[in-house]
Amino acid sequence: MNNAWNDTEAGSTAIDNLVYLSNLIGRDLALVQPGGGNTSAKLDEPDLLGATVPALAVKGSGTDLRTITAPGFTHLYLDRLATLRDRDAMSDEEMMSLMRACMLSPDRDPIPSVETPLHSLLPYRFVAHTHDVATLSLTDTPSARDHVTRLYGDAVAFLEYVRPGFPLAKRLAEQFGEQPPAGAIGLVMEKHGLSVWGETAKDCYANLVAVITRAETYVAERATGKRVFGPPVAPALDITTRRQLAAQLLPI
Ligand code: ZN
Repeated sequence: MNNAWNDTEAGSTAIDNLVYLSNLIGRDLALVQPGGGNTSAKLDEPDLLGATVPALAVKGSGTDLRTITAPGFTHLYLDRLATLRDRDAMSDEEMMSLMRACMLSPDRDPIPSVETPLHSLLPYRFVAHTHDVATLSLTDTPSARDHVTRLYGDAVAFLEYVRPGFPLAKRLAEQFGEQPPAGAIGLVMEKHGLSVWGETAKDCYANLVAVITRAETYVAERATGKRVFGPPVAPALDITTRRQLAAQLLPI
């Protein structure tokens, strides 16, 4: 993966940097399965009562990283989001109600995504989360932890598969609550994707490039000289039959 960061295009404010980071990631389809991936930044922002509060700016639900602009981010109270750590059980609906109760400006901003806790519970300033081909190639396998540990050591933490939503938030709170792994630049989530972070958006992106590039190289090396996919197990049907089958199946 090439580092495509350009300081001039990145803009000057933290939100400018966040939008630029998001667009850079979104335009690379190997990083974001369609509609996937999200980004955030932790900032001090004014609320409707005139106070300046620690806030999370995170990609809103229904927006696309490739085209997102500043209004596509939702702004939430970080201290209210932190109460998720103390909850033992919640339905996804209850969690989304809590997310809405954490919004700084509910009339202005889009609804936060179900992946918002991932961003609020990782204690880093800029966070980027991808559903990328490179690390999913490591973790959509029976030996996900072995691959990740062998490849990154302590630089990238590993989380066993847990369903997105409250269960993922709970597991993250347990793992990252008080002591995030020293020196780690990212977290690989089994059969889900990758989160990377940085003190600046540029650092966050550089960490993403580093983690993805290592995974790409590792996968390419292991595939060298091997047949990755076997031969066809059944002959293809003729084109007319295939089209008829597709016409029956696709509406379903
Ligand atoms: Zn995700």
